[in-house]
Amino acid sequence: MSGRGRPRRVLVATLFQESGSFAPGRAGRRAFASAGILVGEALRRDRLPGTRELAAAWDRLTAAGIEVVPALFAWAPPGPVVEHATWEDLAGEIVRRADRTIDGVYLQLHGSMLTDRLDDPDGELIRRLRGALRERVPVAVSFDHHATITRAIAEGASIVTAYRTCPHVDLERTGRQAGELLAAAVAGRIDPVVGVARLAMTAPPDRHDNAFPPFAEIMDACDAAERRPGVLAATMHPSQPWVDVPDLGWSATVTADGDRALAEAEARRIALLAWERRAAFLSGERHPVEEALEIALRGPAPFVLADAGDATNGGSTGGSTVLLRAALPRRDRRILLTVTDPEAAARLRSLPLGTMTRIPIGAGAPGAFDAPVEVEGVVLAHPDGGFTYSHPFSRGLPGELGPAAVLGIGAIRVVVHTHPVGLIDPEAYRGAGLDPAEAEVLQAKSHISYRAGFAPVSERSVVAATPGPTTADLASLPWRRRPRPLWPFEEPATPWREAPAG
Ligand SMILES: [Zn+2]
Repeated sequence: MSGRGRPRRVLVATLFQESGSFAPGRAGRRAFASAGILVGEALRRDRLPGTRELAAAWDRLTAAGIEVVPALFAWAPPGPVVEHATWEDLAGEIVRRADRTIDGVYLQLHGSMLTDRLDDPDGELIRRLRGALRERVPVAVSFDHHATITRAIAEGASIVTAYRTCPHVDLERTGRQAGELLAAAVAGRIDPVVGVARLAMTAPPDRHDNAFPPFAEIMDACDAAERRPGVLAATMHPSQPWVDVPDLGWSATVTADGDRALAEAEARRIALLAWERRAAFLSGERHPVEEALEIALRGPAPFVLADAGDATNGGSTGGSTVLLRAALPRRDRRILLTVTDPEAAARLRSLPLGTMTRIPIGAGAPGAFDAPVEVEGVVLAHPDGGFTYSHPFSRGLPGELGPAAVLGIGAIRVVVHTHPVGLIDPEAYRGAGLDPAEAEVLQAKSHISYRAGFAPVSERSVVAATPGPTTADLASLPWRRRPRPLWPFEEPATPWREAPAG
């Protein structure tokens, strides 16, 4: 135990990215650098960008008289699998600050990050920390709702919290809960242990919305569990549906005070609610892209069209040309969309504004979701491409289109840009100098999250069942490593990934 008189010391870190296995490419250091990487003493409470979990946890720890030992802030937007060397560098900054003087650890992790060598880097990070810390030092983790909880995570963490909302708007609540429980554990007032229940199921994300049943009922069950004596925190994780790893699947976790059997029993109770209602998670309303565009054009404007297959917040590249192709016959309509295509962006930036040009847009192979399509349009702008997200999940964080151009095809406006960006709010359009309120149709790139981000401009939307790395048609994806049996691909004999422990 730590000596009397000195303040307890808690190491804090954010290492956050959501990976999509089916997205081409690798996320390197640049992906994390866009939000600013802060290491050691450079990480200060007053320098944290946005309203994030780490800030809320930090405040609870400080309020409890605990000395915060800053290790790392590294947050990347969702994207492809992370380059392993980048992860080693970043994780190393956390692990090398963990030693036997540390009395607790708070981590803000996504839970569905992958590297090109590890299926579960978050579990590996916790394992390495355990190797450096004194025994039984509490480790609190706040996860995204879409975490993929492995046994390594459940066994390594002492406290697990997660967002209870989707779209995710309760980041502060999640961080605060982790910080409060960690402060109590460090003071010896509680002895937190984590129980997990892992289901043999997955589902597309369009029914993860906590505003509607069945997810509303499951989240209510987490609230109810937390009111039971001995239960400290309860979460339900519907997983990131596009991670092709042996641990893919839904899970519930419960943190209980010294009673792992209670934690596991409560976790199983919450998880079973999801299993029993699983058919409802396949009933999302989606339309073929032509039909979705017709619905959106009927208005009233502006109307949001969610391009589900190219959800950059699920790790896709933002390079889809599916909506562009559908829009071309309607060039008299004010349709706003974006395409990640660095080469086309560079070519358009080499042309003077006002130039009429014929150019292929789309960086992918013929037949792919990002296949090139030949268009004729006018180069209208060369934006520098910086903007700030307004979505509650990423508010205050910088977005970066990179070198970009606005191409006018009749009344259609295509933002052709270099780096993938989130399209869960309309700020990328504003960053390109376009006014989303003036559009008839605004492309979003997500399944659900866009509803919170686009709401200030329009609450009218339709989801297009487009192909791509984040398609809702999970069976169409080239799975190699997912577990089997896994509902809805197979019919498992039991709901559970493994026999209950104990
Ligand atoms: Zn999420």
